[in-house]
Amino acid sequence: MISEKMIAMAKGGSAIRAMFEEGNRMAALYGRENVYDYSLGNPNFPAPKALNDAIHHIIDTESDTVHCYMPNAGYPDVRMAVAENLNKRFGTAFTDANIIMTVGAGGSLNVIFKTILNPGDEVLTIAPYFLEYGNYVRNYDGVLTTVNADPVTFQPDAEAIRAAITPKTKALLVNNPNNPTGVIYTEESVRALAKVLEEKSAEYGHPICLISDEPYRELAYDGAVVPWLTKYYKNTVVCYSWSKSLSLPGERIGYLCIPSECDDFQMLFDAAVVANRILGYVNAPSLMQRAVAKVLDEKTDIDGYNGNRQLLYNGLKDCGFESVYPDGAFYLWMKVPGGDDKAFANAAKKYNLLIVPGSSFACGGYVRLAYCVSPDMIRRSLPAFKKLAEEYGL
Ligand code: PLP
Repeated sequence: MISEKMIAMAKGGSAIRAMFEEGNRMAALYGRENVYDYSLGNPNFPAPKALNDAIHHIIDTESDTVHCYMPNAGYPDVRMAVAENLNKRFGTAFTDANIIMTVGAGGSLNVIFKTILNPGDEVLTIAPYFLEYGNYVRNYDGVLTTVNADPVTFQPDAEAIRAAITPKTKALLVNNPNNPTGVIYTEESVRALAKVLEEKSAEYGHPICLISDEPYRELAYDGAVVPWLTKYYKNTVVCYSWSKSLSLPGERIGYLCIPSECDDFQMLFDAAVVANRILGYVNAPSLMQRAVAKVLDEKTDIDGYNGNRQLLYNGLKDCGFESVYPDGAFYLWMKVPGGDDKAFANAAKKYNLLIVPGSSFACGGYVRLAYCVSPDMIRRSLPAFKKLAEEYGL
């Protein structure tokens, strides 16, 4: 019954999802308050009240139209509102003609891969990375290739990227702010990337697309600036989602931004709209399109995440652990004493701590802690981390 490709994908499973299930199992055994689950990037703050109010208002006033089909790219007025919001923030000149509403960033990535990949084409990404990328690329018989980030700063290493690009490289996929490291790519890193892509595109005689996966764009701390990549390299597309920025992961709403400067722009855009349709998404969820358009300036509780970031980073530092101080997203990337991340994540379970081994992001020697949890859970978990640190001789 089952295709060979799907058998392989199903066997691959998801370590993060498995950990989340394990958390539920442990909560049933020991009580939810005694399990410290740092596994899943599920936002802990509720969606803003303005979003819920917008949904009520739409249901009250547009219920005769809101449940209907619309153009496959999404409502033109919603796409225009998104474009204008981007223009206001980044000095760009987008219109509705540059925006396709999608089923979250996952949907956006699948749409662009379906649009650009021929079988055997390579998509290069930077490890550590969100492991689902491999499946998304394989969906279209592409090949995901990887290159390591700088081992100390976790910024992209432009020269390593240059060396990893081959004549088959169709795209470079980056994620900024980064899951799992919490690092934000600096403007200097982005300029270096753009230069490499320009040179390699010229060398191989075809454009290499820069795909920027940005579900964490709004989660940046201490005024950190997240560069808007279409300004640095013309063949850049942006995959965005409100999953994290407005705490809406289950609602599946995002967009794909394709700038007019891209090579073959109109054909690329039209093909992406068809991809969105024939992948079976047809269009992004209608109610959510209308709702997010009314709250584009709303923010999640960034101060709350910032409080968690400091509480966890400092708490773990006091235990003797070393982590990358995150500038963005809601993940802490912690170095594993001795380097065996899988053994460490297993040892942590003894203290009811659920953390994800770095190997699940193609980078051993580290673990990821998702701190989109209650500050109270972080406080309660610190004695458990202390015991784990003692077990490791810290
Ligand atoms: N990209 C990265 C790096 C993610 O971490 C996630 C979700 O955790 C996604 C994409 C998918 O986001 P969405 O829920 O918008 O599909």
